[in-house]
Amino acid sequence: MGAYQVLIVGAGFAGSEAAYRLAREGVRVGLLTQSLDSVMMPFLPPKPPFPPGSLLERAYDPADPRLWAFHARAKYLLEAERNLHLFQATATGLLLEGSRVVGVSTWEGPPVEAERVVLAVGSFLGARLRIGEVEEEAGRLSEASYPDLFQHLLALGFRFLEREGEVPETPTTPGYRVRYHAFHPEEWEAATFRLKRLERLYGLGLCVREGDYALMSQEGLRLAEHLLHELG
Ligand code: FAD
Repeated sequence: MGAYQVLIVGAGFAGSEAAYRLAREGVRVGLLTQSLDSVMMPFLPPKPPFPPGSLLERAYDPADPRLWAFHARAKYLLEAERNLHLFQATATGLLLEGSRVVGVSTWEGPPVEAERVVLAVGSFLGARLRIGEVEEEAGRLSEASYPDLFQHLLALGFRFLEREGEVPETPTTPGYRVRYHAFHPEEWEAATFRLKRLERLYGLGLCVREGDYALMSQEGLRLAEHLLHELG
């Protein structure tokens, strides 16, 4: 695949849903995520109702609440889409031509070019995870939050709010809290998903608005409809 029509950074609930819908409509989509082991990985088992026909609905099995099994079903569905390229890399910055975004740089080295870039990075911008007295740079249990992209966005002038989420203790995992940054509401246009400071750049999911898995999936579908309209 050459340059993608749409490159989505972050294969969480929102980014995966948008990528899946766009690819099924014939759009060439890149879905870049920092770990293939955490594609669409929930903190706790998702609970229906879900948007009808969504990837979230297809990956959900009421008979099997195991988090990694849900993740594996979602990843399998994404990988089966012909127009969708799911791959592992960590985005460190935006590639710019003037004020237009033309791709992303990656920690691994190769730049990734695209006509449009969507940031769907969830709770990973400048994130700190706290378990009891221990604090580390992570956006989810066992998943590091690297500083590069956040620092790059700050240097470009983007403004952020601090947010916090909590995961209760379960029989197999300790309870913990995550403090992270979300784009300031004035940076984002809800109707078009645009991060207005730059052209061809969009924000999606928890990094622009709060909500549960079903809302993230709904937002992914809404972004896909919007981009399909823009792409004609
Ligand atoms: P995520 O699902 O977090 O996906 C973001 C993805 O981006 C991750 O896979 C990450 O690896 C990737 N990424 C990040 N930075 C980069 C980078 N630079 N390069 C490449 N990839 C990158 N909602 C519920 O309905 N139920 C819950 O139990 C629940 N618990 C929550 C607990 C916490 C602590 C928080 C913060 C939120 C919780 N939510 C919950 C709310 C929300 O629905 C979830 O956070 C949801 O996962 C957000 O979806 P998302 O797609 O925006 O981000």
